[in-house]
Parts: sequence; structure tokens; C-alpha cells
Amino acid sequence: MQVQNGDTDKLAELIFEKISEYASSGQIAKLTDAYNFAKTAHSGQLRKSGEPYLVHPLRTIDILTNLRVDKDTLIAGLLHDVPEDTGTPISEIEKRFGEKVAYLVDGITKLSKVHYRERMEQRQIESLKKLFIHSAQDLRVILIKLADRLDNMRTLRFIAKEEKRHRIAKETLEIYAPIANILGLGQIRAELEDLCFEHLYPAEYSNLKKEIEENVEERNFILDEMIRITQKELKKNKIDAEIIGRPKSLYSIYKKLQEKQSIYNIDDIIAIRAIVPTRKDCYDVLGIIHRLFKPKISRFKDYIAVPKPNGYQSLHTTVFGLNGSIVEFQIRTEHMHLEAEYGIAAHYFYKYANNELTPIIKKRSTWVQRILDIQRDQKNSQNFIEDLKLDIFEDRIFVFSPKGEVIDLPRGAGAIDFAYAIHTDVGNHAAKAEINGVVCPITATLGNGDVVNIVADKEVHPELEWINSVRTSLALHKIKDFLKQEPKEKKLSVGKKTLEKEFDHIGKIYLDELSPKRIEIIAKKYKYKTLDQIFTAIAEGNLDAQNILETIYDVDKLEFQTTKHLYRIGIKIIGDNDKNQFREIMRTLNSLNIPIEKFAISRPWYLNRYKCKILVLVKDYSQLAQVFECLEHIEGVQEISRFFLRRKIGFIITSFFTTALWVFQPFLIDYVIGKYGIVASNTIIYAGMLLLLGLVFYFKRMTLKSFPELVKTTYYWPFLYGLTTLAFLAVFGEIYSFKLEFRWVFVLILIVAIYSLLTASYVSYKKEQTQE
Ligand code: MN
Repeated sequence: MQVQNGDTDKLAELIFEKISEYASSGQIAKLTDAYNFAKTAHSGQLRKSGEPYLVHPLRTIDILTNLRVDKDTLIAGLLHDVPEDTGTPISEIEKRFGEKVAYLVDGITKLSKVHYRERMEQRQIESLKKLFIHSAQDLRVILIKLADRLDNMRTLRFIAKEEKRHRIAKETLEIYAPIANILGLGQIRAELEDLCFEHLYPAEYSNLKKEIEENVEERNFILDEMIRITQKELKKNKIDAEIIGRPKSLYSIYKKLQEKQSIYNIDDIIAIRAIVPTRKDCYDVLGIIHRLFKPKISRFKDYIAVPKPNGYQSLHTTVFGLNGSIVEFQIRTEHMHLEAEYGIAAHYFYKYANNELTPIIKKRSTWVQRILDIQRDQKNSQNFIEDLKLDIFEDRIFVFSPKGEVIDLPRGAGAIDFAYAIHTDVGNHAAKAEINGVVCPITATLGNGDVVNIVADKEVHPELEWINSVRTSLALHKIKDFLKQEPKEKKLSVGKKTLEKEFDHIGKIYLDELSPKRIEIIAKKYKYKTLDQIFTAIAEGNLDAQNILETIYDVDKLEFQTTKHLYRIGIKIIGDNDKNQFREIMRTLNSLNIPIEKFAISRPWYLNRYKCKILVLVKDYSQLAQVFECLEHIEGVQEISRFFLRRKIGFIITSFFTTALWVFQPFLIDYVIGKYGIVASNTIIYAGMLLLLGLVFYFKRMTLKSFPELVKTTYYWPFLYGLTTLAFLAVFGEIYSFKLEFRWVFVLILIVAIYSLLTASYVSYKKEQTQE
């Protein structure tokens, strides 16, 4: 409806005529009053399209009229931009049109620009928050906002700045289209999505449109013919049905194409809808259609018995149609149709269509209740919107408890989400999940229609890892709550272990790498100043260990040997004696499409377990991290780490030189005494002792790097002490046999220092062991 200057009255007249079909003359009079008020307020203002501003509120209420909304909603729709754009205060609206209308208008009005001049994004979020909270009190607010947004999207092309168009379209696609979906406003949602699609992906949009228009004639022929055949058969069976061909929205086709590649694979570009009087008729029609056209197996959905989370009901079936086409049929009753197109509005307004038009919406939908819950839990604005996106706007799945109770969760949610959705205590002690009768790890992901039973265990508590397998903000917050109240020591050790593991993946030891300088770099980005603070933040789930690595290195360039853009990585797995476990490792690597170059299993004498060495090729660091994560979850896998051939060679060479030094030191000293006298040889002894101190620790570190599993054996520590003692005995032997003279105090101090350092690291190791 393009309106020339001054013609707004004509447009208003047309719309009011439409409204008068269901409203009383008294209500029309009030509306006319509001129209004149808005006209004065917006007078002289123009839309970006050059039209008088007033056409925007008029078209907004035109959209609302299709939903059969009540008088207050229409008045508020007419006035919705008055406070924001004309400076007329809300109190003025309240005085003239009452508290209810003022409340509705206030919900849509953005917060003052003046207050948020510095932080426009903050203003955006706070305004959205206000909108939702007002909607929670009165759902009509969101209906007006959706109509307002739909008109703005229809005229979005008049906005010159591409960046602004994008921002608006993105917000619409992420927030308003999902709300329309939740409220069951099928028509508004489809139009919003198509408009967003056009502005966000213009090339894809026009290509798809062209492609579909190319075959429009053939498709229409198939459609008409199939409708005719079906109609005839239904008449024979005395079923009174309205059968219509239905264009699928471009965006829904585009989304399907994203999943299925080519347009020729799209099953249901052709869709036919049958609307019948009763529920029983739906199933009768289904039977007739399946007799006429062969159904495609596994493409039948009974949304009447199990409605979609937004209340949508229909039978869907896909059949092989004429000329090799594939056609989707949707079968529903009149009532279901009304709800599918007008959703919550049909629920609240249509029922009362013949009576007084003031159904105060007292019954809040679950959607609104959830918004209030999130608002209560979440004081931070940015998180509020993120949580909303996560909990409300995502595609959802239905999952059943063993008793048949239905829990709806976002797509991708796991057993832990389910456990927390049932009760916090169930979540906090969830040990295992039985999914459709099969026992699965608690980190398993759920699918639509799964029957889930959570096995609880008092001894089991939330773990840091859980965070990666949950999708709901409820579960996330509860897990974090639990992690936060764990004892300080436990947090330090968990954080340390997690970081250690991450550094191990790239072949480094964090203690070597996290120099004060690097901690400063981290502190700048995350505000954690000490290593302990970093550990705690990781253990509380507030900091991702991988991010630390990414902050200090270019992770993809670390110690990878490259083969044609693939990196060769050695992985070592220590596991229980169980053949299935190794088969599972192979299966997991195959399912991740990871090429395996070598696979060797051994049982070393120092381990009571099996060791498995694998050489794999990976694309990048994130793929490597994925491999580690998947392998860690295999039952029976005790330990998994990278191994480095170059490092092992380094270890062997060092050991060789150490031994050589010990063996040849007496001869060296003998030679030096003969040639340079006792002072020079004393120097060698002192230097040798210091070297020994260094070697003991170097050896310890190298062992840790190259043979970490050795550290956990019973041999390691006696071996280390024995080695040190042996080294000292060798020194004493030299002193005795060459009759050397030097300061015993100095030697004693060195001996005490070496042993106490050794003992200190042993004690800290033991302490860590008992904490596990
Ligand atoms: Mn507006």
C-alpha cells in the first residue's frame, strides 16, 4: 500500500472498514480518536520511503487486524511510535486512552537515547529486556511489536545503510521470527523469515527464486491434477474438505537445501494442505491419500497425537506424486488451521470474536513464564539475551520420562539437560542415562522422542566436563553453581589438571610455558592475575583452558609434522585389558574420518595395563582437540596423551651423556690433578656436584615429559632416590680414592638441598594422588 502525501485518511478508512467487521461502533469511535491523536503527533514526519509517517502505524494495525486483536491493542498499535519519535510523554497517552493502552505502548517504546548515548548496544539489549518483561505481563505487547517489525521489514529496502539493514534483519531472524514461531503465528513468521533471507543473503535469495520460478508451470500442473484426484476421491467418501496448494516459504526451502545440497533433492517444494471438519476426518483423509499415492517411508509425522512444542497440530505425510514428483500433504482441522496461522492470537481473540473484545490475557504461556524465570536468575543483560536465545528461540525436541512425562529441550540437548529439567538433585547426582533402554554415558546427546531414564548415584557430582555437553542455561548455571562451591584445593587441582592436559595436547608443560610475562598477557585479556586465579576460573567453568592456549600461541603451528596439509600426531593411550576398547578407539577415529598411519598395542613391564600407540593425521588443532575429547570418553581408557619421537631421542642422548660423565669423571679428575694440581680438580668436583643437582631435576622433568606413565609406577621414586644416592657415592668414592680436600660444609649443604628438593616434589606428588 503505497500512500501519497495526504492520503492517509483513505488508508485509515479501508482498515477501519475491515475492523468494523468484528468491532462495535463505540470501539471504532475510540480508534478514530487515537488515529487523530497519532496524526497530529506525527504530522510533518516522513518515513524513509518518503511516505507520511502515519502510514507505518496504520499498516501495523492492518497486520494486527488479521489476528482479530482487541481495541486496546489496536489503539496501542496506532500510538506505538508516538512517545519515541514525537516527544509526547506516555503520561499523556495514559490520560487520554487509559492505563492499559499506556502500558502496551510503553512496552514497545525503546529506552531513552540520552541515557545510553555511549552504549547503544546496551540500550538495544535493555530495550529488548523491557519489551519481554512487559510481554510477560501482557502478551499483546509482543503482538504489536511483531506487527511493527513486519512492516519495518517490508520497507527495509528504503534504509540506505547496508550495515543497519543487516543488523535489523539479523535481529529479526534471531529473535522475532522465533517468537512468532513460539506463539504459533505461522504466517507472520514465514513472511519475516523470507524478508530476512532476502536482505541477509540477497544472491542466494534471487538464485533460489529464479530456480523455483523456472519450473512453476510444471509444478502448478502437478499440483492442480493431484488436488483434483484427491478431491474426487474424498467426495466419493463423503468427506467435506478444503484442499489447497501451498507455496513453501523460500527460507524454509533454503534451510532444507543447506542440509541436502541440491534443489532436486528437495522433497516438498510442492505442498498440499487439506482442511477437514473433524480429527477423525484427518486420519480418514490420510488413509485415502496413502491409497492414491505411495507414501515415502519414514516421512509420516503425527503432530496431532504429539503436537510440536509451540502447539502446532497436523498430520504430515510425503508421497510419490505425479510425473515422479514428491509432494508433502498436511492434513488438519479448521481449528488446528486457525491455531497454526494465528497461534496464540487465535486462542485469545477468536474465541471471543462475537462477544466483548476485551479478553485480558491472564493465562501466561509457558514461554512467558520461562522469560520471567530467566530474568530472575540472570541479572547480567548480555547473558539475559544469550540465555533467551539458548532456552527459547532454539529449535526444540520432545523427550519422555519413563512415566511418559514430556520434557521439551533445545535441539542438541543431552541427558544432563534432561536430568536438570526434572530436578536439581537428579542433575547433581546423575550417573548414567538409559536412552530407549540402552545404558549410555551421562554426556550423551538426546534425540526427538527418546525415552530417558536417569540413574542417580549419591556419590556422583557434576564435573567440569559436563559443561561441554549441555545446551540449556538451566543446566549450565546449576553445574557452575556446584563447581563454584567446591573446596578451594579441589578447584586448584582440577584447574591445574585441565590446563596441564591442554598443554600436553600441544606438547608443552604449562609450568615451563606460563612465565610471568605470559600470565600478564592472559591477565590483560581475562583479568585473572595469578596462576591460582586461572586454575580456579577454569575449574569453575568460567574460563576455557583452550582459550588460554589460543591467547598465548598460534596453536596451529605447534610441533606438528605436516604431510600435505595434514599433521602427523602420535597419541598414546593407556587402558584396561579389554579388546572392545581398542576396537572402539578404531571405530571412533573412523567415524571422525581421521586417517590412521600406525596402530600398535603393547603391555610394558612397568604397567599393569595396555599401552596403545597410534599415529594419526589431523587437519588442525581443533580437530586434534576433538579426537582427544572423543577418545577420552571411551570406556576403559585411563589416560591419553601425545608422544613425541624427537623428544624421546633427546631423552636417550641426555641419559647417555649423564652416564658417560659419571663413568669418566674419576679419570678426568685423575688427569686434571696430574696436569693442573688440586685446585683445578676441586673446581671440577664443585662443578660436578652442581651439574649433578641440575641433572637430577632435568632427568625428572624429561621422564615426566617422555614417560609420564612411569611417574605413576611404584618404581619411579625409589629409582630417583637410588640414582641420586648412587651419584653421591660415586663422588665420595672419588674423594676417597684421590684424597681430595675441600669444604665439607659446602658438600653437606648441597646433599641436603638435593634430597630435600627431591622429597618436596615427592610430597606434593603424593598429595595430588590422595586428592584424586
Ligand atoms: Mn514502529
